[in-house]
Amino acid sequence: MNSEHIDSYLSLRNEIDAQTEALWNQHHNNMACKKGCDQCCLDFDVFPLEFDAIKKQVEREYPEVMDRSTPKEPGEKCFFLTNHQCSLYNARPIICRTHGFPLLYMNEAGDQWELSHCELNFTQVDEDYFHEENTYPQDTINSKLFMMNKAYINSLPDNSYQEFDLIPLRDLIKK
Ligand code: SF4
Repeated sequence: MNSEHIDSYLSLRNEIDAQTEALWNQHHNNMACKKGCDQCCLDFDVFPLEFDAIKKQVEREYPEVMDRSTPKEPGEKCFFLTNHQCSLYNARPIICRTHGFPLLYMNEAGDQWELSHCELNFTQVDEDYFHEENTYPQDTINSKLFMMNKAYINSLPDNSYQEFDLIPLRDLIKK
């Protein structure tokens, strides 16, 4: 495993944590997110770079998680939820770190900005409350992650991944 790529991913993750902390400071009065709410915790897939970085951290910090048995069929909810809480919280993927925040992204046609957030949040504000400075730049971050993952899979000796390949997070515990 190429640690230079993993380090780049971890730097991006730190950058995202700083951004979401700033957003939380701005918006917490309008957000219902709290410990025990798992509405956003679905059965996600991640890029190979993110998967390998998470795996490395989970092996180190949450070895008990690796001993679970894998469900035969994918479920709707994330396999790593335990009593409505994340069992690998410090290592959770980027998508989990942005849950609930106002996410700014370009629509599929590429001609209009759109905003998305949890339906439980921002119930008392109207759309012009949001602007570039108080939203999360989802496309920018996703592009960075995409390019980092591309460099990573190209560095792997067996060339086994294509650039849009994703891995189910639940495969972390596959023996
Ligand atoms: S990894 Fe953790 S935060 Fe992410 S969906 Fe699963 S339980 Fe929720």
